[in-house]
Amino acid sequence: MLKTSLGEKEFERSGDFISGAKKVDGIIFNIQRYSTEDGPGIRTTVFMKGCPLRCSWCQNPEGLSKEPDLVWYQTRCVAALECLKVCREEALKLTEEGMSIDREKCTRCGECVKACPAGALELIGKRYNTEELLDEVLRDRVFYEKSNGGVTFGGGEPMLQVDFLEDILPKLKETNIHVAIDTCGAVPWKYFERIIDYVDLFLFDLKLLDEQKFREYTGGNIGLVTDNARQISSRKIPMWVRTPIIPGYTDDEENIRSISEFVVRNLPTAQRYDLLSFNNMCKSKYERLGMNWELKDVPLIEKGDMEEFRKIAEGTGLSNVRWSGPTRIGGE
Ligand code: SF4
Ligand code: SF4
Repeated sequence: MLKTSLGEKEFERSGDFISGAKKVDGIIFNIQRYSTEDGPGIRTTVFMKGCPLRCSWCQNPEGLSKEPDLVWYQTRCVAALECLKVCREEALKLTEEGMSIDREKCTRCGECVKACPAGALELIGKRYNTEELLDEVLRDRVFYEKSNGGVTFGGGEPMLQVDFLEDILPKLKETNIHVAIDTCGAVPWKYFERIIDYVDLFLFDLKLLDEQKFREYTGGNIGLVTDNARQISSRKIPMWVRTPIIPGYTDDEENIRSISEFVVRNLPTAQRYDLLSFNNMCKSKYERLGMNWELKDVPLIEKGDMEEFRKIAEGTGLSNVRWSGPTRIGGE
């Protein structure tokens, strides 16, 4: 599990922090247009900051913290040192190894970003109010209408910003936009309760069903996740269940079989089951965030193994099982 894992109490506090006030801005780290992976049709995916879990394999480490993150791009830096001059906290040092950012001292004021003539520093995570984000996502409305697409909120974990969702989702529904939420499911049910009436589809992660392994590898409580999955399905909301296939963590037959059986028995609204192969493209994101990633040298999954996992899932009675993502040919 990533070292910054939140304990259960801390995660509750982290969620409450974001869900305390009524009218809040969303903190968003990416808006991806023309996505075809995050629900039906052509979609805009909004990536929101903050996650209650700390999966060892997390592909979006820039989504973990609820605060903006300062990153430095070595290839752009021209050593102008303007950033060091403007930083009142003395949080920056340019050494032979690169830019050292003291993240304890850094207040995310953004002054260094403005001062850098080369665009080598960036604050990842921007505030949007509801109207600003609506303007942004409604620009592609014609694509949603033509393709039966819509808007997906992912992250991080979008449910940690439930106040913002509670404000924007009804407005999207007024305009008949299809709304999907991509969730790890590890937040209290009371958060789902507040927005569920405005959601057309949940992309729901079931990574591991073994209680101990789930806690060890993600920091979370699998009982909470499976209870939420059952509740969503009992409310008749369509679901696409997804499992990341991570070498040494989730890639065993028993895990895929037990998740598939859980879906067959408990989630009547599951429309498909997606197996997502491990992707190591996020290595450079960890480096820019100054984080060590224990999976940085792990090879991709073999294509034949993904095929096998698909067959195992189908063998439990699931009919719409797919896999996607990068793979390697056996022996590479
Ligand atoms: S749930 Fe997703 S965003 Fe959160 S740590 Fe796991 S992989 Fe990363
Ligand atoms: S964001 Fe502000 S506090 Fe942080 S390193 Fe830059 S100037 Fe210093």
